[in-house]
Amino acid sequence: MQKRLFIKTYGCQMNVYDSARMAELVAPLGYAPAETPHGADLVILNTCHIREKAAEKVFSELGEIRRLKDAKERAGERMLVAVAGCVAQAEGEEIMRRAPFVDMVFGPQTYHRLPELVARAARGGGGVLDTSFPAEPKFDHLPATTPAPGVAALLSIQEGCDKFCTFCVVPYTRGAEFSRPAAQVIAEAERLVAAGAREITLLGQNVNAYHGTAREGGEWGLGDLLRALARLPGLERLRYTTSHPRDVDDELIAAHRDIVQVMPFLHLPVQSGSDRILAAMNRRHTADDYRRTVRKLRQARPDLALSSDFIVGYPGESDLDFRATLDLVVEIGFAQSFSFKYSPRPGTPAASEKQLPDAVKAERLAELQALLQQQQRAFNAAAIGTAMPVLFEKPGRHKGQLVGRSPYLQPIHADAPPEMIGEIVSVNIVGVTSNSLSGIVAGLDEAAQ
Ligand code: SF4
Repeated sequence: MQKRLFIKTYGCQMNVYDSARMAELVAPLGYAPAETPHGADLVILNTCHIREKAAEKVFSELGEIRRLKDAKERAGERMLVAVAGCVAQAEGEEIMRRAPFVDMVFGPQTYHRLPELVARAARGGGGVLDTSFPAEPKFDHLPATTPAPGVAALLSIQEGCDKFCTFCVVPYTRGAEFSRPAAQVIAEAERLVAAGAREITLLGQNVNAYHGTAREGGEWGLGDLLRALARLPGLERLRYTTSHPRDVDDELIAAHRDIVQVMPFLHLPVQSGSDRILAAMNRRHTADDYRRTVRKLRQARPDLALSSDFIVGYPGESDLDFRATLDLVVEIGFAQSFSFKYSPRPGTPAASEKQLPDAVKAERLAELQALLQQQQRAFNAAAIGTAMPVLFEKPGRHKGQLVGRSPYLQPIHADAPPEMIGEIVSVNIVGVTSNSLSGIVAGLDEAAQ
């Protein structure tokens, strides 16, 4: 009998990818995706540990899930509840202690065991906990099934991180850097393209540290892998995220120069413009190193645009340090960026340091975000009057409208027939809203629009 599976995904694209793989793993057990947890037979919270109060959010969500579980059991049925992802990895035993009604807690490195965990939990006898770091890579045990169709797909190629930035939990929740063998990645990419993907985003916590075993022996870096993927017929666009400035090597820069499928949009977190703070964060590069890397990338691909991540209010950050961040932003110019107040993460080195007052953090964040939003608006406005290649992904909010993405990941909506979904079409940009562009498909009778 078909069973209902509800997965709630928090955080990064890697979690989105992992949730899709979890759904594939339990499909043979009869579980089909459900839109809501109401009446579900299996509920999975796939959690993120990056921001403050991450764990508290999970516990409050579990409170609601418990009510649904109790209601289902009063009706004589059973709901299995699981907590997965980085909060599960970091706080597994605490979840079991505070929420004993949770049937399974497992981390990002053990979700390939989900069918077995479900069987053990279904047999009852208390919660199942597996937050180990198994020797065998989970990717070797994930089903080689045909993924759900979709024009733009995610593909995890690297996991974990060896950088140990002082504010980050990833090395503790995702473990050491691991790169999937190139042949395995290419096989999965072929399945995605066969299922309709025209664009693939390669994922990794430190994706440009990729060093996977090559088919013919030896190792491939990300540049090599991009070259091989670009040869797949039907794969029009390639992206990758998230990168570390120190791992942008010459092969990767050459890939941006030579491979048209590699989109001219790169997410390259810098976090701060101050060398003193970069050193305190253990980023092991300077602001000048970042400038040099950006200069080399732009020489190789003059139309390249950047996005980045910024942390303000890191312990010890002076006003001078903050000014250095603003100066770097003005100098580099970012098409889009993410910025946050520093929030102490349990178990990370910086968490035990003296914190700046929240008012100072908030003031600096507001000033930085005003500058970044100004740059983003200017970047989007510069598109008006140009023709952009848009990969249409799905129907828009209005009848007869489609939505797609520009090479710079800008959402673009235009009136177009549904058969254009999955096509890359030239669109004349005529308008900008706060977070998307509007356009007219070139060649389509404007009058008919
Ligand atoms: S490189 Fe990124 S994932 Fe790795 S520790 Fe630093 S911030 Fe975290």
